[in-house]
Amino acid sequence: MLPSTFEYVAPTSLDEALQALVAGAGDAKIMSGGQSLLPMMKLRLASPGTIIDLNGIAGLDTLEEVDGMLHIGALVRHGEIERSELIRDRYPMMRDASLHLADPLIRNRGTFCGSLAHGDPAGDWATVAATLGAEIHAVGPDGAVVHSAIDFQTSMFETQLGSDQILVEVRIPAPKPGQGSAYLKIERKVGDYAAAAVGVMIVVDGGTITEASIGLTNVGPLTIHAADAAASLVGKSIDDAAAFEEAGRLAMEISEPSSDLRGPEEYKRDLVRVLTKRALRTAGARAQGKEA
Ligand SMILES: Cc1cc2nc3c(=O)[nH]c(=O)nc-3n(C[C@H](O)[C@H](O)[C@H](O)COP(=O)(O)OP(=O)(O)OC[C@H]3O[C@@H](n4cnc5c(N)ncnc54)[C@H](O)[C@@H]3O)c2cc1C
Repeated sequence: MLPSTFEYVAPTSLDEALQALVAGAGDAKIMSGGQSLLPMMKLRLASPGTIIDLNGIAGLDTLEEVDGMLHIGALVRHGEIERSELIRDRYPMMRDASLHLADPLIRNRGTFCGSLAHGDPAGDWATVAATLGAEIHAVGPDGAVVHSAIDFQTSMFETQLGSDQILVEVRIPAPKPGQGSAYLKIERKVGDYAAAAVGVMIVVDGGTITEASIGLTNVGPLTIHAADAAASLVGKSIDDAAAFEEAGRLAMEISEPSSDLRGPEEYKRDLVRVLTKRALRTAGARAQGKEA
């Protein structure tokens, strides 16, 4: 199907983009990679009167560590994250997710920030951002706004981002000494969304887990922050298999998957349990420098 007619605006500055968004009064949509917006328009699930294309604005493609934070600009593509040496060396969970997110064509256009703005509980980056404690920096008519990634999604495809706000950058704390992370995803076929996926971050000091965070993808109406599962790990040994088993069980308990073409509910719940354990093992090995 073809999208309904719309006006196309190509600003060259954020101020211009913001003016166009405010002028659109709720009927305008920002476009970054267009890899979710355009399919939705073709299916007539979205029919914005105006599209504001961010791609002509310079300076939104930053992917670098500054003052202890990783800065990811609004136009950083999934593929740039996949190919970045900085990400490969310092943010293994992001590298894991980038390798299994959609397909190479979509990865070359779609953006990290667009994925967060989209608010899809099947989005891999929302889990990564929440698990790594990201800040979401936006601008609106009243100036700069900072949202926390953990409670950024408010309902399916809804986020804290106002309809008059532009997501400009995501900032992720740089890894601490002894930090390890991993993202494991099971997909029916290459290029598909997750049947279930789990992101894990732990910090290990002298063989003991001192911090943990766990996020779940596509097993509920929102990206799930499995806080109890993560808290159960703190103070445990990195070699404590029973602790990993218990964290997997708690993560499974908080998941709320529905049966669909990607599998029955029970299967997805069990995936959460197993993937949590496996991701913890990988994150643990990485925290101890034993695995890339
Ligand atoms: C076949 C297919 C398979 C896919 N598989 C996966 C997958 O496995 N995992 C996964 O995570 N994703 C997957 N995706 C989605 C893909 O990752 C998209 O790129 C991503 O969801 C949106 O990023 P985008 O830059 O393309 O955003 P756009 O399509 O440009 O925008 C998406 C939404 O976010 C809003 N928006 C975008 N940028 C901003 C901004 N800076 N400020 C405010 N609002 C903004 C738009 O207005 C729109 O509502 C898939 C998509 C397709 C078509």
